[in-house]
Amino acid sequence: MDQRRRLQAMLEGLRASGLRLTPQRVAICEVLTRSRNHPTAYQIHRRLRRRFPTMSLATVYKTLDALVRLGLVSALGDAGDGMVHYDGATDPHINLVCLSCHRVQDLEDVAVEGLHAQVVARSGYVLRGARLVYYGLCPDCQRKARSKSPAEA
Ligand SMILES: [Zn+2]
Repeated sequence: MDQRRRLQAMLEGLRASGLRLTPQRVAICEVLTRSRNHPTAYQIHRRLRRRFPTMSLATVYKTLDALVRLGLVSALGDAGDGMVHYDGATDPHINLVCLSCHRVQDLEDVAVEGLHAQVVARSGYVLRGARLVYYGLCPDCQRKARSKSPAEA
């Protein structure tokens, strides 16, 4: 789904669940559809604070909760930083989490679609979303770890 349609689906979903489409909520949805770096609620709040000085963190959480319930946003487990990261792309893909620098990146074009089809066929479920998270050390952090401890190499 492209960004514009994803944003549209989020706004319609919020309206259908009885939340008013305030400029703040629209901006939260925009951050989620535009950013591919899986922000936390705190990061979304910090990003929008200058534009909406009166917006509370609770508003961000409430909006995120509604979107997660609707299956339009995925709540990813923490990235080793004790924070929930949110993903505005719910089409099947793999999230890679670095436990050292806490970046969360996407891995597309892996055979995830086929996996989904198998899950549907074997369970009879209607899938609203899925979460595939791999944890480890990203290449940058591996390099840093190697250069920091030459004696151990
Ligand atoms: Zn890293």
